[in-house]
Amino acid sequence: MNYISTRNKSLKATAAEAIAKGISEEGGLFVPDSFPSLSEADFKELCSLDYVGRAKKILRLFLNDFTDEEIDYCAKGAYVGSFDEDKPAPLVALDDKINIMELWHGPTCAFKDLALQLLPYLLTTSAKKVQNGKKTVILVATSGDTGKAALEGFKDVEGTEIIVFYPSDGVSPMQKLQMDSQKGENVCVCAIKGNFDDAQTGVKRIFTDKAMKELLADNNMLFSSANSINWGRLAPQIIYYVSAYCDLLKKDSATRENGFNVVVPTGNFGNILAAYYAKKMGVPVKKLICASNANNVLTDFINTGKYDRNREFFTTCSPSMDILISSNLERMLFEISGNDDKTVSALQESLSKDGVYEVSAEIKSAMGELFWGGCCDDSETLKTINETFKKYGYLCDTHTAVAVNVYNQYVAATGDNTTTVIASTASPYKFAKSVLSAISDKEENSEFSYVRALSEATNTKIPSPIAELENAEVRFKNVCDKTEMTQVIKKALKID
Ligand SMILES: *Cc1c(COP(=O)(O)O)cnc(C)c1O
Repeated sequence: MNYISTRNKSLKATAAEAIAKGISEEGGLFVPDSFPSLSEADFKELCSLDYVGRAKKILRLFLNDFTDEEIDYCAKGAYVGSFDEDKPAPLVALDDKINIMELWHGPTCAFKDLALQLLPYLLTTSAKKVQNGKKTVILVATSGDTGKAALEGFKDVEGTEIIVFYPSDGVSPMQKLQMDSQKGENVCVCAIKGNFDDAQTGVKRIFTDKAMKELLADNNMLFSSANSINWGRLAPQIIYYVSAYCDLLKKDSATRENGFNVVVPTGNFGNILAAYYAKKMGVPVKKLICASNANNVLTDFINTGKYDRNREFFTTCSPSMDILISSNLERMLFEISGNDDKTVSALQESLSKDGVYEVSAEIKSAMGELFWGGCCDDSETLKTINETFKKYGYLCDTHTAVAVNVYNQYVAATGDNTTTVIASTASPYKFAKSVLSAISDKEENSEFSYVRALSEATNTKIPSPIAELENAEVRFKNVCDKTEMTQVIKKALKID
């Protein structure tokens, strides 16, 4: 297997090259040129393994130039000792059909940990193979959770520096505190005036800026990305969908024939794309249900075939999904168009020029076969948190609640009651104020009073990474204009 670019499929790379580079030189995203398929015997073996064992087996299929020792080192480094009970993706059954896959038992209490605990291992292993001694500079644009998860993953990792930009008004107070208090000698955090798309566009521009690239090269450094455009972020996400299938099979072997639906609260389209890739490899996923908040550009795209980012941007109570440009949709378009790099390039160019594109009738109908799109606003999100807590005694965060709401819409619209896995992407304690407001009328005066009040009102435990933040020291107080991002980077790297 090789990796090719979505905008020029004649550009080939090994896994290590794709991961070390992050993004292809002409702006395209790396994807495998073919997908491995898992046999009955493979699934049987996977079922008998723990998470690390499952991770190793899946990673081996995608990391064509890694040795078995390297894969063992990476998987163990990521998944042993960093997640509650060493279970990164436990399934919690709400009833005999609905399962919540809790992806927030890692160091930052959000699902990004599943990929970002592994990525530093993949990246440093890749860099050794292909960059002979250059320092890797990780640039991140974050809508909240990626930044902290990347900082935790990369802090004090030898041979790396990490710089994180987040929109000053686009993250929750808890997310902001998590990042601003980050420890580590190789980390830099900066808020920018603007929204997530401004941050992401700024980072993408810097990645392809020739002068910056040369300046880094002169200093024996090289940019890479920890955003979900990096293949090293996506491969780890495929693992938990395979793992969820194994867990379902162990409970009910009929899942093999009946399949299951997957619901994903979606922003950049990375998480749901990984579920699609798992399906492509043989996991019997029936419908991929794509849940959006008020920034419902994907719902409209799935329903109309027209992607249009020229619309009002809403700051919602599920900030990690406040996105109007879902970068990983590009990989989906590549797949669904039958690896048509010309079409993908044209669509992406239209998106960056006019903020809009429209796909062919074939692509639209193929999307509609695979996906069901739905959305809900903040008041519906909060109502869903309340109803889910009352009905099942289960407390979910604002992002997960969007997924639960859209799942309920899906069942109402289709009557489909196939077994379902809903991806739960953050701990409710990361968004304590919003979550509490859904459950009770109590007003508090600080973020941590909300955390404690939520615990009291729901009789649930405060995760230790959140509890520990209360007395953390704030190290980063920078706010910059989006035009100043290059200066921030030069200063952080001391290459001014
Ligand atoms: C990042 C994030 C999402 C969106 O995931 P994508 O892979 O970008 O679609 C949803 N929920 C939470 C809590 C997140 O951190």
